[in-house]
Amino acid sequence: MEKKQFQAESKRLLDMMIHSIYTQKEIFLRELISNASDAIDKIYYLALTDSNLTFDKDSYYIQITADKENRTLTIRDTGIGMTQEEMENNLGVIAKSGSLAFKKENESKDGHDIIGQFGVGFYSAFMVADVVTVVSKSLTGGQAYKWESAGADGYTIEPWEKDAVGTEITLKIKANTEDESYDEFLEEYRLKAIIKKYSDFIRYPIKMNVTSR
Ligand code: ADP
Ligand code: MG
Repeated sequence: MEKKQFQAESKRLLDMMIHSIYTQKEIFLRELISNASDAIDKIYYLALTDSNLTFDKDSYYIQITADKENRTLTIRDTGIGMTQEEMENNLGVIAKSGSLAFKKENESKDGHDIIGQFGVGFYSAFMVADVVTVVSKSLTGGQAYKWESAGADGYTIEPWEKDAVGTEITLKIKANTEDESYDEFLEEYRLKAIIKKYSDFIRYPIKMNVTSR
């Protein structure tokens, strides 16, 4: 399968995330939940004006699944989903490009403040994951696709099976290193605390499921 390359500026942000200059790695979850919530919002607003579409509140939620045995953390939403083209164009393109410019101007500053003020978006997943997989099916219909990247060397896209409209993002959580532990991102109490800290205001239910061996 052909490996596609990231745009130059995206690659720089990605490198920053992979080499994780930020100490607050936990914010990746805030970013992914906020994207999931935005995706559900999009269906919600469409339903306001499209009489063929109904927004049944119970069908819209965000599901977080941690699988300790396989070291995966999955964030699934029942939002609007993405077409193949949208995956190509939106994933890991710097939406808030201001944050990168800001970082450059303030090299001496602690990364902490910067990340607190600006969303770093989807790429922040690479702070805690070796591989990021996105499976999505768009509300506009058609084939579902899988986007996958192990970081700076690019990404692949291929047709994939997915019945329900929405997006499922799976992070292969990094192995612990001498100075850094990632295990916490598979622990229910820790995930709940992160969600409470950063995502308490999210309007849709966040369900959690943790499985171990
Ligand atoms: P931002 O949220 O500021 O636009 P992100 O880097 O967080 O930037 O996300 C980039 C884009 O990828 C989003 O604008 C959206 O188009 C798309 N995207 C990311 N996650 C999802 C998702 N769960 N469902 C649908 N689209 C998504
Ligand atoms: Mg975002």
